[in-house]
Amino acid sequence: MSPDADPPDAALARAQSYLRNAQCVLALTGAGISTESGIPDFRGPQGVWTRDPDAEKLSNIRYYLSDPEIRKKAWRSRLDSPAWEARPNAGHAALVALEERGKLSGIITQNIDGLHQIAGNRPEKVVEMHGTMRHARCMSCSYYVPMEVIAERLHAGEPDPDCPDCGGILKSATVSFGQALVPADLMRAEALARECDLLLAVGSTLSVYPVAAVVPTAKQSGARIVIVNAEPTEMDELADAVLRGNIGELLPRIVAGSN
Ligand code: NAD
Repeated sequence: MSPDADPPDAALARAQSYLRNAQCVLALTGAGISTESGIPDFRGPQGVWTRDPDAEKLSNIRYYLSDPEIRKKAWRSRLDSPAWEARPNAGHAALVALEERGKLSGIITQNIDGLHQIAGNRPEKVVEMHGTMRHARCMSCSYYVPMEVIAERLHAGEPDPDCPDCGGILKSATVSFGQALVPADLMRAEALARECDLLLAVGSTLSVYPVAAVVPTAKQSGARIVIVNAEPTEMDELADAVLRGNIGELLPRIVAGSN
């Protein structure tokens, strides 16, 4: 039987048993783990891009660098992000419980919201593959500051603040489409994928590479794969268990039931 055809209770029981027997668990998280904290995803039914396809331009480095109007819109949308007020939810808390149990080797996240660290996972456990919205950087020099520093300039009336050191273009310290990922993060993600014996992929369509490649890498290295997502993902065929439903409900049940 394919994992997709599993009755939900059987998939849950299998996921709990894999977790009970695992020693080295890697979590791969996407925007779906933070929607229950009030931060919309991009590609889900209520996603930012699903509702406004033009919004994709704000996350594309080519448009960002060439068009001051896109930059002004991007700064406004950063200031207005619900992530600033968001609190971690039960899904984040479940991964903290897993770390406290000594089983979590790491969290590879596509998220930029910092909620894993705010929930209580140690920062050294979290690999933020797409960077963080909590800092800003210059695209031309090494200027790197907390986002609050730039927010003050925006509030003071600068719609597209430039770098105080070199006059370059500033951007949140996130990896936009068209930008390369940090090589050290990629190497760490690959090493974590090779050494884990269970991969929990949570809240991602698993369609954005190279992060999605963590799934086949872990599989080839002999790990069990458990996918928790409301919708089908690109990697469901590789999974040993697929759980469809709300992460805030399912992830705590997987973790609590694996003691
Ligand atoms: P995505 O938008 O491609 O997919 C999210 C998936 O999560 C969807 O399949 C959706 O059905 C599912 N989902 C949403 N809420 C859920 C819930 N409560 N329970 C179960 N499933 C749920 O997300 P992605 O694959 O992570 O890619 C989006 C990209 O955009 C990422 O690379 C990330 O950098 C960025 N992003 C980050 C945030 C954030 O930091 N919170 C938010 C939006 C986008």
